[in-house]
Amino acid sequence: MTETRSTCPYCGVGCGVIIESQGDQITGVRGDPEHPANFGRLCTKGSTLALSASAAVTRQTRLLQPMRREHRQEAARPVSWDSALDFASESFAQIIREHGPDAVGFYLSGQLLTEDYYVFNKLAKGLIATNNVDTNSRLCMSSAVAGYKQTLGADAPPTCYDDVKHAQCLFIVGSNTAYAHPILFRRIEDAKAANPALKIIFCDPRRTDTAEIADLYLPIQPGTDVALFNGMLHIMLWEGWTDPAYIAAHTTGFEALKATVRDYTPDMVAQTCGIKKEDLLQAARLFATSAATLSLYCQGLNQSSSGTAKNAALINLHLATAQIGKPGAGPFSLTGQPNAMGGREVGGMANLLSAHRDLANPQHRAEVAALWGLPSVPSTPGKTAVDMFQAAADGEIKALWIACTNPAQSMPDQATVRRALERAELVIVQEAFATTASCDYADLLLPATTWGEKIGTVTNSERRISRVRPAVPAPGATRHDWAIAVDFAQRLERRLPARGAGPLFPYSLTDEALGVETIWNEHRESTRGRDLDITGMSYAMLEDAPQQWPLHEGQNTGKVRLYEDGIFPTADGKARFVNTVYKPVAEPRESRYPFSLTTGRLRDQWHGMSRTGTLGRLFGHVAEPSLQMNAQDMARRQLLEGDLVHVTSKRGSIVVPVQASPELALSQAFMAMHWGGEYLSGQSSSGEALAGVNALTTSAYCPSSKQPELKHAAVKILKA
Ligand code: SF4
Repeated sequence: MTETRSTCPYCGVGCGVIIESQGDQITGVRGDPEHPANFGRLCTKGSTLALSASAAVTRQTRLLQPMRREHRQEAARPVSWDSALDFASESFAQIIREHGPDAVGFYLSGQLLTEDYYVFNKLAKGLIATNNVDTNSRLCMSSAVAGYKQTLGADAPPTCYDDVKHAQCLFIVGSNTAYAHPILFRRIEDAKAANPALKIIFCDPRRTDTAEIADLYLPIQPGTDVALFNGMLHIMLWEGWTDPAYIAAHTTGFEALKATVRDYTPDMVAQTCGIKKEDLLQAARLFATSAATLSLYCQGLNQSSSGTAKNAALINLHLATAQIGKPGAGPFSLTGQPNAMGGREVGGMANLLSAHRDLANPQHRAEVAALWGLPSVPSTPGKTAVDMFQAAADGEIKALWIACTNPAQSMPDQATVRRALERAELVIVQEAFATTASCDYADLLLPATTWGEKIGTVTNSERRISRVRPAVPAPGATRHDWAIAVDFAQRLERRLPARGAGPLFPYSLTDEALGVETIWNEHRESTRGRDLDITGMSYAMLEDAPQQWPLHEGQNTGKVRLYEDGIFPTADGKARFVNTVYKPVAEPRESRYPFSLTTGRLRDQWHGMSRTGTLGRLFGHVAEPSLQMNAQDMARRQLLEGDLVHVTSKRGSIVVPVQASPELALSQAFMAMHWGGEYLSGQSSSGEALAGVNALTTSAYCPSSKQPELKHAAVKILKA
């Protein structure tokens, strides 16, 4: 038996795993006792990884051969890699020649490895000269990114997992940590057991399992987080619980915010948020007066039409009370996907460039052009996720390349997304699994390697970079995501006018270990002098242990915690208060759509279930889709447990069994995000067939982060 150290491919906790294999078969997996993210622990998803990589599952679910569909109505037929990539590069070149570079778009994934991401970004922004590169991280972390940048000056979570044990107050908000980040939740349980004085505040419209550990639960109305945070600051100011010395020495902009929060009186906030005044007061007191307060937050803040304001308003609290830059304190965004952080590091989004550079900054564009040996990188802003699919639906984007994600299930407002995939002249889907809904729309399917086969790196929520290593050879004709992108790019480079002096993609495709390390080294060099400088971090160093960034040349270890010196990566070194104002959800409840529908994760499933849905045992926790709602709401509508209901928003309708849940307040409903067409059919408001809860969700997004409001849609619920 061979043992290979790698990383779990699911959530952003980034647990280390040891893969056991024999020949070309993965035979087992266990937690890596030496990995600092998990010290040997794994949750149900991580501990069943070997089963989901078995030969039987691979045979049934994997895409193992390039496939091409000559006409949309026909079945896809196997083709060679040469034929597939020549077709892809010639088709892209023709569309670019006829319609310009912005007629193509790449939609990537927070599950790609950093090296995969780096090559795709260079392919689009360097070779093709379009910024139309976005990813499903736009649905996940972009509000956290914008919140950090607006306040602290850089997209850098300043804290670490170890801070959980140093905290005296944990403020968990908009995160069902017990389900979505289970191994981190084990740390919280350990911290509470070791320190009974630790106070935990949990804030979420749903009383999820995470509430069980809380000393104080704040069941706020959906989308009212900014009102809550501003109200807490109002009380902190009134009671003298802020830290004027820290504010004066290390921040700017407090006076304007102070004037704004004057209006957020306890009465107003208690009424807006639907909570008790005394609970609001207690939350403000615990947060401000504890020796160290750590906030943990996730999609409840991010997936919102006010996502950036929610993030900034929470960070305002940390700055006002000096709860940052010391052990156990600070704002800690929990990354949804395994490598949403790595994608941001290489600039793999429509508004970013390599190493946390900004597309809108001419100096940053010039630096990236120089790194790539190009005269320029384009300045036209790229289309972010929602806008990219809208542009394809409008006929503006002609070719879509989708890698390692399933927008035909996971994007909001599925009717528009399906129209986009049907209207695009060319849809290329690069995937490990043949079973995703997006595969049905592909003109060309490119088979990719997946967990247990891939090579590269990922970054977890605490800025820690870990190696991902192959335990078994790539099955069938599958190839690594970066290698597919490089092979395509090299072919496209020959078909487009030269932009640089030399070849842009000099990475070995025959020696994959060398090829991927060359990409890493190029990415590493691009970070020199940036906030995430990793010039001291080599593959050899990562062989020994995962490392946190920044880690400068000559250093042996990364930075555990940021801003301990009170200096922030802004022009004047000071953090900035953002003058946050509460705005209601984009689509408030009203008489025709009287329920707030929210979506979220189950404990044992992942995204669209392409991997977890292959294992019967992972359905033991929740076996089938349901709409959860309050028992009183059900009684009023004469609904019984298991009755089928039509759940309808302005965009579509689905039919699903209803279930009473004590987690839901009156007028609220919940559905898990995972169930696709196999389980949950529906239709758009104009009668097209759709599937899954995203038939209902809205693509209304935050104006700063462009992250859509997947956490709230107004719906009606009627007996079927
Ligand atoms: Fe994997 Fe996340 Fe579970 Fe860790 S907590 S084993 S990273 S799914």
